[in-house]
Amino acid sequence: MDRKINKSRRKFLKNSALGMFGAGLVKYPNLKLSSEEKNPPPIQIKDYRSLGRTGFKVSDLACGFIREPGILEAMLDAGVNYIDTAESYGTHKMIGKVIKGRDRESLFITTKMEVKKDVSKEGFVKRAYKCLEELQVDYVDCMMMHMPETVQTLKTEGFHKAMSQLKSEGRIRFVGLSNHGSFWYKAPEQSMEKVLLAAVEDGRFDIFLMAYNFLQMDQAEKVLEVCRKKGIGTVLMKTTPVKNYYGLKQRLEEMKKKGKDIDELYIKGLERFEKRAERAERFIEKYNLQNPDEIKDAAIRFVLSNPKVNTVCCSVKNFDQMERTLSLSGTTLSGMDKKKLAAYRKGCGELYCRHACGVCEPQCPHHVPVNTIMRYQHYFEAQGREKYAMLKYNSIPGAKADVCGTCPGYCETACPYNVPIQPMLMRAHHQMTFSS
Ligand code: SF4
Ligand code: SF4
Repeated sequence: MDRKINKSRRKFLKNSALGMFGAGLVKYPNLKLSSEEKNPPPIQIKDYRSLGRTGFKVSDLACGFIREPGILEAMLDAGVNYIDTAESYGTHKMIGKVIKGRDRESLFITTKMEVKKDVSKEGFVKRAYKCLEELQVDYVDCMMMHMPETVQTLKTEGFHKAMSQLKSEGRIRFVGLSNHGSFWYKAPEQSMEKVLLAAVEDGRFDIFLMAYNFLQMDQAEKVLEVCRKKGIGTVLMKTTPVKNYYGLKQRLEEMKKKGKDIDELYIKGLERFEKRAERAERFIEKYNLQNPDEIKDAAIRFVLSNPKVNTVCCSVKNFDQMERTLSLSGTTLSGMDKKKLAAYRKGCGELYCRHACGVCEPQCPHHVPVNTIMRYQHYFEAQGREKYAMLKYNSIPGAKADVCGTCPGYCETACPYNVPIQPMLMRAHHQMTFSS
């Protein structure tokens, strides 16, 4: 793996340093180039924005979930200065090694702790010190409460007392909050918007990490506006809701090929999905949307164009993706991007289950946590965190998506976005349990 990464890194450095001009030199050896053309500057972050009231100038693109040290290193070399991690990501030690020897003050490191069984101040302090030890740092810039499902959870006194102590000890500088909406079987009425707006009122949080993208604007837009007024830093995740469609289409084809003996209700669900997929296909043809990378680029430019957004977490899996993503720094949405995103929204928007939504969940007689399952599937597929996603999925208490195969899909009728979620849930189940 290391050899592969080193090779990729060499490629990145070569590409970023020589870029397309390098290729041109090989193809056209007699071409006369200026010295700047021969040695273009490496890919670099072009925009830094104030992270709310922290005042820190943060790169417009940030390190989201990154597994490979070589990629993290190259991102930092390119000027990315915000690192997002969490106790549960298993990346602290790797990050610690990569940042060793770098100028600590030039980096903004955020990690997160979930509110688990032990909600005592001592419990949180102990866990925070473990994070610091793993990261090999004296302090983190922000400690976030990770995914509190309810307004009550974000008020957990043990957490806040621990944060005050850690601040006074110089171990954290700011306190933040990430949110993905609720797990329905516990708190169906607690949307991302509700939890984040309550956190604004609470006043003890300086930075939010939230889901926002061109298909899913409603909940986060209100929060972004309030954050701007109150000086709360805004960090985005789940900004490229594009891959799902292509994965689903592939699954559909696989299932057809296998011709398995499946329940009539599942077949009906697949037919509903297929209708939407065919419509999406027509849009893709008509508006020339075949390249998902182009849509993803436009999706990132969409969020970068919003001045209320401070930085965007990017979870890149390889050097090509990283190079492509970093080249978007400092760019904004073009007229063509707008047209493509509008066409994609219209044609393919029905195939995307909105993060942090859960509107349909109260309709499920089995209490299946629809939105949580689709989030785990996002970890599995889009972020390549297969093991983690499978562990999370299999630890869901109560019914999982296997029950969806014999259900008419009550949740679908309640979805305001017309998402054919029943077969999508089944696919998520197949992926995260490796069942056929
Ligand atoms: S299926 Fe529809 S209503 Fe249900 S969580 Fe997804 S987007 Fe929301
Ligand atoms: S398909 Fe049926 S069982 Fe599955 S989440 Fe929807 S309502 Fe629940």
